[in-house]
Amino acid sequence: MDEKELKKEIEERQRKYEEWENSIEGILYGIGGMLGGSTSASERDEYLIAKVLQQIPKDVRGYIIGNVIFILAGDQDGIIHRLRFQIDENRIKEERITQKGKDDIIMRYIEQDFIILTFTPKMSDEYKMIIIAHEIAHTYLNHTDINCHGGEQYERAADDLIESWGFPRAYKSYDFFKR
Ligand SMILES: [Zn+2]
Repeated sequence: MDEKELKKEIEERQRKYEEWENSIEGILYGIGGMLGGSTSASERDEYLIAKVLQQIPKDVRGYIIGNVIFILAGDQDGIIHRLRFQIDENRIKEERITQKGKDDIIMRYIEQDFIILTFTPKMSDEYKMIIIAHEIAHTYLNHTDINCHGGEQYERAADDLIESWGFPRAYKSYDFFKR
């Protein structure tokens, strides 16, 4: 095989890999096993998450797959029994707390974004996908601070973003969030 053929084959493999990576199967692999569910209903929700991820821009998809753990809560009895997930060591942070007259305390915490979805059986697939997209938008826009929760400007910003991705807005009115 000469160099030209080799180059062509590498490019072809790269292309095939990217095609797989952006397929539903590849995306499902990327987000890992879904936490909080193992029923056929949660499998369907997992598929809906992958479908939404497939429809959003590539850079956002890459960011979300690399940084977010999805949790399906509210399935069946709404109880999550034991969550296990792999955590990147780089996400484990330490903070030294000094107190007068006492020993320092080292506080360890995990810096990890979660998207927790609470679906009910009555919700349509379309509606669930809008919710998934909306929550992805909040995470991507870094609305992770508690002060952002339910703020009108943040809700509008998330909906503006999902609209630019081709989804309907999650809210018809933002009056509820006015404060
Ligand atoms: Zn929101």
